[in-house]
Amino acid sequence: MVIHKNYSLKRLNTFGFESTAAAFVEIHFVETLHLMETLHLMETLHLTDTLHLTETLHATDTLQLTDTLHLTETLQLTETLQLTETLHLTETLHLTETLHATSLRLPIYILGGGSNVLFTRDFYDVLFIKNNISGIKIIEDNNEKFCVCEIGGGENWHTFVLWAIENNLGGVENLSLIPGTVGAAPIQNIGAYGVELKDIFVKLEAINLKTFETKIFTADDCQFGYRDSIFKKKLKGEFLISKVFLKLTRAPHHKLKLDYGDIKKFLAAENIISPTIRDVSNAVIHIRQSKLPDPKIIGNAGSFFKNPEIPESQFELLKIQFPNLVGFKNLQSLNIKVAAGWLIEQAGWKGKRFGNVGVHAEQALVLVNYGEGKSSELIELATQIQSSVFIKFGISLETEVNFV
Ligand SMILES: Cc1cc2nc3c(=O)[nH]c(=O)nc-3n(C[C@H](O)[C@H](O)[C@H](O)COP(=O)(O)OP(=O)(O)OC[C@H]3O[C@@H](n4cnc5c(N)ncnc54)[C@H](O)[C@@H]3O)c2cc1C
Repeated sequence: MVIHKNYSLKRLNTFGFESTAAAFVEIHFVETLHLMETLHLMETLHLTDTLHLTETLHATDTLQLTDTLHLTETLQLTETLQLTETLHLTETLHLTETLHATSLRLPIYILGGGSNVLFTRDFYDVLFIKNNISGIKIIEDNNEKFCVCEIGGGENWHTFVLWAIENNLGGVENLSLIPGTVGAAPIQNIGAYGVELKDIFVKLEAINLKTFETKIFTADDCQFGYRDSIFKKKLKGEFLISKVFLKLTRAPHHKLKLDYGDIKKFLAAENIISPTIRDVSNAVIHIRQSKLPDPKIIGNAGSFFKNPEIPESQFELLKIQFPNLVGFKNLQSLNIKVAAGWLIEQAGWKGKRFGNVGVHAEQALVLVNYGEGKSSELIELATQIQSSVFIKFGISLETEVNFV
């Protein structure tokens, strides 16, 4: 584990915007978080340089440091360390410097793949923790129809989807190729092509970032909505999601969701009459690759705005003026969901470029950084789009991307 001071976040957000974190660390085990807490490493503002902890973690339930722990730089801690009980050290702990007190605790920001964040400033007062907690396993397989998988929050989402397909397990194929990590998926209840995370969600395990206690959240606890959950509202920034448990269906029993026209078109073009889970995943991958810009080539965070919901009466009125307006009824709220991309396109923004930022030429819902852009330029563009859509349609666009 290496704690870096004054760390550039440019390669850690898919917009590719420059921003600096006071401190940055990647963690592979929940236990590392507890170790950091015990060592008061959240208080690293006073470090003069990068801190290296050269421990090897063989974490199962308890943290077992099998190697000597070397603290090569000065740590500033509030108390004498009482580590032997907590850490089960098998060898001596060497502290090369005296450890001092500090009353300052850095706020923590959890980062996954950085594919849904917009850094609006530098963070000289924040410790960024990149979640790399990995692992995929089946933990419940008590009948031939379903199984429950436990997935580490730092696992790449699409890697998990490919694992499911390889094992002939259905449920996530429509969510193929969504960037980011499994731990971030519940935050906005990721969704695509008629499927949302909540459809297969069982529970998640999370660590409270104030008390460092572990808590289980059921689907009800998560309060999932359209690109929404309790983690974007009441509990925003309060937990690190360490594990997610999802229920997948074995192939013969799985009902594929093929409602989307583009999926049907792809399967027809490939002469696939009885599609498999893999066929649907391939269709989704093909559609996404042909429609969405690759963040490795052009910086973006996917859909910048949510598709807005409006009352049916407003939709009917707008339909008179804009006959091509398409909407889908939300059977719960009874409102009509309209395509934000269409509204933005009609307001004349599609393909417009302003210096280093712009609106993607193929997909008006995606705002892009052409390379050297600043987040302030993108925010200015987003604000202009919001006001022009409001003036034309009387509809407020809400951002999907997390402003940090
Ligand atoms: C090209 C492209 C296409 C996309 N398509 C879709 C799509 O079809 N559907 C869709 O829903 N989304 C889509 N997205 C958005 C994005 O992929 C998802 O929101 C994804 O879940 C973000 O994962 P991440 O690991 O990158 O999260 P990050 O961007 O790192 O973080 C997002 C938020 O989650 C929090 N967070 C991250 N990990 C954790 C954790 N372990 N514990 C607690 N909080 C955490 C962060 O603090 C932040 O607030 C797309 C993005 C891109 C770039």
